[in-house]
Amino acid sequence: MNQTPHVALLPSPGMGHLIPFIELAKQLVLRHHFSVTILIPSAAPPTQAQKTVLQTLPKTIHHIFLPPVHLPNDNLDAAFQIFLTVTLSLPSLRHTLASLSTTTRLVSLIVDPFGIDAIDVAKEFGVSPYLFFPSPVMALLFCLHLPKLDETFTGDFKDLPEPVQFPGCVPVQARDLPDLVEDRSSNSYKVFLGSFKRFGLAEGIIVNSFVDMEEGAIKALLVEEPGRPAVYPVGPLIRTGSSDGLEESECLKWLNDQPSGSVVFVSFGSGGTLSHEQLNELALGLELSGQRFLWVVRNPSDNSSAAFFNAHNQNDPISFLPKGFLERTQGRGLVVPSWAPQIEVLSHHATGGFLTHCGWNSTLESTVHGVPLIAWPLFAEQKMNAVMLTEGLKVALSPKSHELGLVGREEIAEVVKSLMEGEEGKKVRQRMEGLKDAAAKVLSEEGSSTKSLSDLAFKWKNQNNI
Ligand code: UDP
Repeated sequence: MNQTPHVALLPSPGMGHLIPFIELAKQLVLRHHFSVTILIPSAAPPTQAQKTVLQTLPKTIHHIFLPPVHLPNDNLDAAFQIFLTVTLSLPSLRHTLASLSTTTRLVSLIVDPFGIDAIDVAKEFGVSPYLFFPSPVMALLFCLHLPKLDETFTGDFKDLPEPVQFPGCVPVQARDLPDLVEDRSSNSYKVFLGSFKRFGLAEGIIVNSFVDMEEGAIKALLVEEPGRPAVYPVGPLIRTGSSDGLEESECLKWLNDQPSGSVVFVSFGSGGTLSHEQLNELALGLELSGQRFLWVVRNPSDNSSAAFFNAHNQNDPISFLPKGFLERTQGRGLVVPSWAPQIEVLSHHATGGFLTHCGWNSTLESTVHGVPLIAWPLFAEQKMNAVMLTEGLKVALSPKSHELGLVGREEIAEVVKSLMEGEEGKKVRQRMEGLKDAAAKVLSEEGSSTKSLSDLAFKWKNQNNI
């Protein structure tokens, strides 16, 4: 048996979790000389986006697509689909771990928050189970506190009398809590509540965040508490290496011709979508702002996570834009259908702002590159992230919506102008610059995130398998 310590990782489906899992794998291989296998559960053939990131991995990182599972019906919400996909993949996981544990020195299985039951499978093989939490620590605190909130408050969460305050975090109004709590009678709620109660079974929780970004929350979690696993903040882990594709050259070439810091990048993550009416307002708002923009456009939908599993397979999103919009904004704006090479865009000198859905990867990528934000949360825990970014860290501006949730064109134009050339934008930009420097520091040789991962690597290298 090869004596190099081996770690298996089990991300949940979707790019938002696969990307940080891959980056964690790279750190373990390149800095700490582990060998790694990434096990990818799915309910469909691999997407183009998955194939692209997996193709560029170093040779010491292996990946296996677990056999696709069959989901019972199409009407499940995205989070529940993800949970079911991982759960139905557990028999294949067991099979794969049986083989890995005889051919490698398997020291740990790192599981995703959507696949907490995989911990039981790790234990069957005497392998240490760890949880990698790729969202903010504030969201981890939400998961750890929900069981208590569930016991102590019996009503509808939207009627909570006070904002919820997780240790060390900004207070959150009930309306900004993760979508999950909207309906306590739903299957999703029951299943995830059950999952959160099991987080304590992990031997440790690795988080993709860093102390300057979530100081209070991280300090609160670093205090030892009986029944709570040790926490390892190792972030910001963001996608490294370039993505290739046709869209890349087109939008990067266009950015090359724009003045420094002049372009606002508009994108809603790997699967976020807007309603047709909202898409229209956003287009007209960008036009009215007079600012330069690069916009990743998707087919409209009333379900905000509609493109989560098929962002690359959209037919013609451009056809949904208002009449004459492309001609009127020609030269000043570029519209890209479905997907853009986000890291390359955010690191480009021409990019000066990011209108984002506040997904955690997008947030960290913008932070590492010092690009200030306009927060436009759509689903999952994004509203809570937006509160942290606008009210806590103050690195984002936030457009106000009408009562029915629509953000109007004038408001959009105002907030875009304010970020790109207003006084408020200047302050937000300065704070983001500070956070960028802090991010570089925690990842340096002596930085706190580097040390945290080294502690973990040391532990795994020196443990005797049961
Ligand atoms: N992404 C990209 N191009 C796009 C949209 C998204 O490269 O057009 C990448 C982005 O850089 C990030 C990930 O997909 O790494 C999205 O993750 P995030 O957590 O921001 O949002 P989610 O997709 O989970 O909602």
